[in-house]
Amino acid sequence: MDKILFALIIAFIIFEFIFNRLLDTLNKRGWELQLPASLQNLYDKEKYEKAKAYDLEKDKLSLISAFFSTSITILFLLFGGFAMLDQYVRSFAQHKILISLLYFGILGFASSMLSLPFSIYGTFRIEEKYGFNKTTMSTFLIDLMKSLLLTIVLGGLLLTLIIFVQEKTGSWFWLIAWAIVTGFSLFIAAFYTSLLLPLFNKLSPLEPGSLRSKIEDYAAVVDFPLKNIMLMDGSKRSSKANAFFSGIGKSKSIVLYDTLVNELSEEEIVAVLAHEVGHYKKKHIYQSMAISFITTAITFFIFGRMMNSDILPSILGTEKSFHISVIVFGMLYSPISLLTGPMMNYLSRKNEYEADAYAKETYGSSALASSLKKMSINHLSNLQPHPWYIFFHYSHPTLLQRLKAMNEI
Ligand SMILES: [Zn+2]
Repeated sequence: MDKILFALIIAFIIFEFIFNRLLDTLNKRGWELQLPASLQNLYDKEKYEKAKAYDLEKDKLSLISAFFSTSITILFLLFGGFAMLDQYVRSFAQHKILISLLYFGILGFASSMLSLPFSIYGTFRIEEKYGFNKTTMSTFLIDLMKSLLLTIVLGGLLLTLIIFVQEKTGSWFWLIAWAIVTGFSLFIAAFYTSLLLPLFNKLSPLEPGSLRSKIEDYAAVVDFPLKNIMLMDGSKRSSKANAFFSGIGKSKSIVLYDTLVNELSEEEIVAVLAHEVGHYKKKHIYQSMAISFITTAITFFIFGRMMNSDILPSILGTEKSFHISVIVFGMLYSPISLLTGPMMNYLSRKNEYEADAYAKETYGSSALASSLKKMSINHLSNLQPHPWYIFFHYSHPTLLQRLKAMNEI
């Protein structure tokens, strides 16, 4: 049985790699299609070729990176790397919780170091070449250190709690562990813009001026508290513009990148803001949180049933422990995320349409349409991705789909 499961794990890793490459190949075909008449005036020939080259370069990097990480994972499995690491950690640590923390720590650190060259190449070669990169090597490295530290502190704390609970409780482990993870994600959601984001970016209230008064007028109409609209120095890292809604309860806020303010007209900025207010008014954050709480509960329930079985450690040829159970369970469970991913993306795309409709209802659609067009062009987006690629990977509808839905074409 353990041999069959081991073979299934390897087979799935290979399947996932091939499947994603097939999607990428299908997606590249979009560049050979004629642009629909409605979008033809957007890209001139030269810019369209540039967008195509940018997309193909990113695609090549992701192919090399995926090939590398897939090969490493398979080799690590075939040569018993997971069992060797377990023995290595046990050679100098005795305490159960410490062993598991070190195990995850070493694996996590190694995997982020292995992906580092690809992310450096992506940022300082590809993004740089197409004029998007604004980050310096020192900002990049400081970001990396900060996120490593955050992962160690927050992840370490969360893991310690869960392993502690696992040792003290029996069949109710899954429920208590789920409550801890849920509490933790509520905490992150509530303090993301006030505690976490300021570690990486500067957030400031909107300066007085004509943009602010236009936003004030709109915020008054739709009854959204203005003090929760903030400007962020996104230009520190990239010239790409963005805006997002985050937070729950009193912490809810809309963050506008300074690059958005530089790139769009004032009406277009208000339209983007109207879209974000739409996410808030339609309670999309609560909806996605509820779904993630339910799926985490299901995952923990199944894990709780399986974690004490002897099969999980025997698949990797090692002794029973919390960390080995998590690793094997994660691998056996990953085909399910291949199914839940597209479902979450579908829901997210539906929410984008709703937020667009809200913006249209409260501010009209022409400014939003022109802002979407501008951003798509400035970011060199692929205007005609393959429907299957959209189905599996896109959290937002394409420009064409959004314009169609707003009857702007
Ligand atoms: Zn949105």
